[in-house]
Amino acid sequence: MSYIEPNITEDTAPMDHFPIFIATRTARIIVSGGGDAALAKLRLLMKSSARITVFAADAAPEIAQWHAARKLTLVPRAMDYGDAVCAKLFYGANEDAVEDARTAHLAMTCGALVNIVDNLHDSQFITPAIVDRDPVTIAIGTEGAAPVLARAIKADLEERLPQNLGTLARIGKTFRDAAFALPFGRARRDFWRDYYFNTGPKAVAEGQDSVLPALQKLLDSHLSKTARAGHVAFVGGGPGDPELLTLKARRALDEADVVIYDRLITPEILELARREAVMIDVGKEGFGPSTTQERINDLLVEHAQGGAQVVRLKSGDATVFGRLDEEIDAIDAHGIGWHIVPGITSASAAVAALGQSMTKRGRNASVRFLTGHDTRGFADHDWRTLARTGEVAAIYMGKRSARFIQGRLLMHGADRHTPVTLIENASRPNQRVVETTLAALPDTLDAAQMSGPALTFLGLAPRAALALAPTLSAQEFA
Ligand code: SAH
Repeated sequence: MSYIEPNITEDTAPMDHFPIFIATRTARIIVSGGGDAALAKLRLLMKSSARITVFAADAAPEIAQWHAARKLTLVPRAMDYGDAVCAKLFYGANEDAVEDARTAHLAMTCGALVNIVDNLHDSQFITPAIVDRDPVTIAIGTEGAAPVLARAIKADLEERLPQNLGTLARIGKTFRDAAFALPFGRARRDFWRDYYFNTGPKAVAEGQDSVLPALQKLLDSHLSKTARAGHVAFVGGGPGDPELLTLKARRALDEADVVIYDRLITPEILELARREAVMIDVGKEGFGPSTTQERINDLLVEHAQGGAQVVRLKSGDATVFGRLDEEIDAIDAHGIGWHIVPGITSASAAVAALGQSMTKRGRNASVRFLTGHDTRGFADHDWRTLARTGEVAAIYMGKRSARFIQGRLLMHGADRHTPVTLIENASRPNQRVVETTLAALPDTLDAAQMSGPALTFLGLAPRAALALAPTLSAQEFA
């Protein structure tokens, strides 16, 4: 809620008032007093199914009318001994402190809980501000501290909650027994969430009669889902261009119940997921740090165990610098089925942008995929071999480690003029190719200010004919 500062919610002072909902069907409630204070309380109380008795020698005409309409019982005199027998609740609304104290005492001796209007100190209970979406009832209390705040929150909720929430809840209630067919826990929760926030509101908009059939259909689909075994497909999402997805990847996205995706997956690819799929971004949570690997593992297990067809969508190829094995180990430990759908790794897309091949007879018979840093920091490699002329390496996550890599290579005798090419956002509309040399690599990177994912190709320059293509060269940053 926008009214509450986050640090206030951390306040752990014990509650002085504990919220409960009292059954009113057979309850007797007494109000002493017949003026404005009594009227305000009565308007609220008459929404309940309680039997209400008002004691007032001089009651407002509305109260007499309600009495005539049998909405309550008016006893046209002051309250006396024994009048509160069997009453559950008592409201002192006499607008007179002495009379309130006297009648409250009478009620208490009969065992009723007592509330005195505008007297928090002598009240045993207080009435919250209420948002009524029968049968959904929201009670807002501030322990008497800030009634204005309670009213503001009430107004806000009144505006925000759809009027048909009550209808949905009422119809939902008739369906509770049927929903027990779903296993307890996640499966059942998912079903109800889908009903209240997706299927239900849509059906209600088409008319109340369509809600029950929609609910039945929804239950059938959830039942068949839980009957299936959960499964995880580790899908390579490619470098970003949706056309570089494999047909298998597309099919997996089409059939997914849940898609758990990384930061580098482009929106165009997410668009291709089944519309009903639950989309979970584990690249970033709000502005906070990225989701921990443990949390990702848990999510995979949780959803697959609930019977979902999970797509774990990773950028490029899932088997390249993707911590895939940790995720496989986690779901293996739970006996969950999985398979891998290969994808186009960013090195392939990047080298395509250079118009080069990764290997070439007479130049390099091997190519290495390196990471700039690993779990321990900057990654160590066989620098001596890498420093040899003609070696080609695709360096992933190499932006921050560029100076380190350059230093190691030069130290091991690499030629300062070794071509190096940076490819940012390979395969995407904002792809950028920056040509440089080993000597100039860190400065080129600094000047280029790359904010997108970038791959560094050691030992490769763009094919000369490509110089005509719209790319930037290192000189532009000189
Ligand atoms: N599994 C991925 C790599 C994940 S590591 C793959 O196979 O491509 C993340 C690194 O991949 C980034 O730091 C960057 O170096 C590289 N990368 C991913 N997408 C890229 C893209 N579209 N263009 C350039 N580099 C990319």
